[in-house]
Amino acid sequence: MTLEVLVCGGAGYIGSHAARWLAEAGHRVTVLDNLSTGHREAVRWGELVAADIRDRQALDRVFAARRYDAVMHFCALSLVGESMARPYAYYDNNVAGTLTLLEAMRQADVQRLVFSSTAAVFGMPQQALIEEDHPAAPINPYGASKLMVERMLADAALAYGLRSVALRYFNAAGATPSAQIGESHSPETHLIPNALRAAAGTGDPLRLFGNDYPTRDGTCVRDYVHVDDLAAAHAAALDYLDGHAGAHRFNLGNGQGFSVLEVTGAVREVTGRELPFEWQPRRAGDPPTLVASSARAREQLGWNPRYTDLREIIATAWRWHSHPRF
Ligand code: UDP
Repeated sequence: MTLEVLVCGGAGYIGSHAARWLAEAGHRVTVLDNLSTGHREAVRWGELVAADIRDRQALDRVFAARRYDAVMHFCALSLVGESMARPYAYYDNNVAGTLTLLEAMRQADVQRLVFSSTAAVFGMPQQALIEEDHPAAPINPYGASKLMVERMLADAALAYGLRSVALRYFNAAGATPSAQIGESHSPETHLIPNALRAAAGTGDPLRLFGNDYPTRDGTCVRDYVHVDDLAAAHAAALDYLDGHAGAHRFNLGNGQGFSVLEVTGAVREVTGRELPFEWQPRRAGDPPTLVASSARAREQLGWNPRYTDLREIIATAWRWHSHPRF
């Protein structure tokens, strides 16, 4: 069935990949984005409404113009380090902005939401593989802001019957294989794009943050998951909401951790280039290890990530970074 979907934050990295995926699956997409970090050029699979989710009047106009079956919500400030320095901006955008969106959805009687959450809700994990029921105790304002929204969604399910799925991404990486869209942040803070830029000679030498973590080689371990696999999980979450009332949470990762040094090794292999780097002290707010158990998403959403090999994920990112379009 063709659904009418409003993709808030669809000009950003993960949102634009989800918009593409939905359009290719036959759904009709409208993107709402304030273009603060997103790119107009990334909106290729639906109309763009340039507006901010904190602007209630703009949202009311959007919902009055068309009847939406569902909202996907990717609008957020999403940098751990920045959130430590500017917490109010994170609570304003991520919490107050989402509340405004939820209120506008309620008034317009839109009953389904897929929400971008994050592994940062877990803080310092106590187990190697993080399941959905692992205690959530964020150690930075970014993770706290996302956890607050998850709580709002649980309350909204009880009070107003809102159906929602919160998807906790571990480390999104890669680009769609056609390289029409990809990851482009300014400033870029993420490991894989920074490593590729350093290898390409278009960025500074890679700074490696910390070699004294309690991990196998002293560097942080993360679970890298391809952005198109995340996009597929969003489409599966929409289907899931057909048959399931309530507020649901799923962890999305590959279930395998790679250290920063293992990632840089893979970047050298994929690019065939030298990778200039320098050691730096630890970055504030980084937990040593974050690796997902995605068993629940696999069982209940039928999610089956196609990219299980880190080199393959990095290869798609390299294709994009070799010829970025924005
Ligand atoms: N990292 C690094 N150099 C960089 C960017 C990141 O050493 O230029 C490290 C970072 O400290 C963390 C890991 O790489 O241990 C993944 O960081 P990223 O920002 O990509 O994702 P996060 O896990 O913070 O969402």
